[in-house]
Amino acid sequence: MFRLSAVRPSHFLPSTLLLLAGLAAAYVRDLSVFFTSLFNVLPTLVLLLGGAYCAVYRRQRELFLMVTVYIAYFLLDTQTDYYRDHGQVREDAAVVFHLVCLLLPGLFGLFGAWQERTHLAQDLLARVAVLVAVGGVALALEQSYPQALLNWLAEIRWPSLHGHWMSLIQLAYPLFFGVFVLLVVQYLRQPRPLHAAQVVGLIGLFWMLPQTFILPFTLNIMCSQVMLMIAAAVSHEAYQMAFRDELTGLPGRRALNERMQRLGRNYVIAMTDVDHFKKFNDTHGHDVGDQVLRLVASRLSKVTGGGRAYRYGGEEFALVFAGQTVEECLPHLEAVREMIANYAIQLRDPNSRPQNDSAGRQRRAGAAGSTVSVTISIGVAERLAEHRNPDEVLKAADQALYSAKAAGRNCVMQAGQTLRRGAVRTA
Ligand code: GH3
Ligand code: MG
Ligand code: MG
Repeated sequence: MFRLSAVRPSHFLPSTLLLLAGLAAAYVRDLSVFFTSLFNVLPTLVLLLGGAYCAVYRRQRELFLMVTVYIAYFLLDTQTDYYRDHGQVREDAAVVFHLVCLLLPGLFGLFGAWQERTHLAQDLLARVAVLVAVGGVALALEQSYPQALLNWLAEIRWPSLHGHWMSLIQLAYPLFFGVFVLLVVQYLRQPRPLHAAQVVGLIGLFWMLPQTFILPFTLNIMCSQVMLMIAAAVSHEAYQMAFRDELTGLPGRRALNERMQRLGRNYVIAMTDVDHFKKFNDTHGHDVGDQVLRLVASRLSKVTGGGRAYRYGGEEFALVFAGQTVEECLPHLEAVREMIANYAIQLRDPNSRPQNDSAGRQRRAGAAGSTVSVTISIGVAERLAEHRNPDEVLKAADQALYSAKAAGRNCVMQAGQTLRRGAVRTA
């Protein structure tokens, strides 16, 4: 259920830096004085910038998260302005503040967990409808029954659970906690930068609310930071989409092309290809094939000797060793080839259906338990006088890969040479 292997500290890095910057700006007096004029326009600027970003990438979930934070900012900012100008809070300050303490985490959790599934326009309409309905009901209650609403919000329902440190209404705490758990579970199930940003953003909002009237400009700073976290996550994900392969999590072809522009004078490129993978897919089904590709990718990404793995396309992977010679890399390539060949892959779902009946028959006939194994062939080349640029080295590695296949597969072949020592041959 949880994809712990996909959890990355880098998912949290931009949001955590923004959170820390927000805390520093709020607490360090000189910083907050310096930024005072900027703080007044910052939330609006961030919303415009982030909103434009979301529109370009068609990310409505993120847009509504930002709009929710901005509305909360706007409502509370009116109150803090009044407080600053008059030295006392406005008449409706308590009811507005308490309402925001409930609606902000509630809507943040709702829009954060509400995945975009339906048609773009329908999705937009549904989100607008929810926002208008919740806002409309809250406004109507606040206008018609301000005192009754205030009493309901401020009531201490569980006196034994009430602590003196609680500066928000009691209801806000279980709500924040529930939304926090929801967002953490969402992150663990689908570890991605946006889900990480939502978790950190919620922590920022939880910290912000009690400080609203106490620390000057906390509201402006933290709302801007949380909206920036969301915008940063959108760009982080856009980058990942362009440079990372979704199935295996390895950097993809584009990342390899970029890396190849920045290789120094000495480097080695190895091309690897899974043996008889078409047959494997036909026998076990495409889903099992995908599962195996992920495992092969994960083994290749752990290649020793400083090699970096990329998914070149299909069931082909490239390994790049910068600053090395072929002789230095061969033991590491042999080791990874052998490790994959000896790895008995446990099928996660033995009931996964093959794609057609004959495949099903083949599978049942050959199914001894629920483990499978695959082998890979590797062709390797280094930068030499005759292959001066990375494209030529890659081409030479590809040709060596063909030779490895011709030599019986499950072996490592060096460009311009015959079968390597120690290689295992299987038909
Ligand atoms: P060889 O040993 O000569 O490499 O044989 P092969 O069957 O592996 O060679 P070929 O390149 O003809 O087949 C590659 C197969 O890899 C075709 C396709 O079914 C499979 N494949 C490519 N990409 C994916 C993928 O993303 N998922 C799955 N499950 N299969 C893939
Ligand atoms: Mg192939
Ligand atoms: Mg193949």
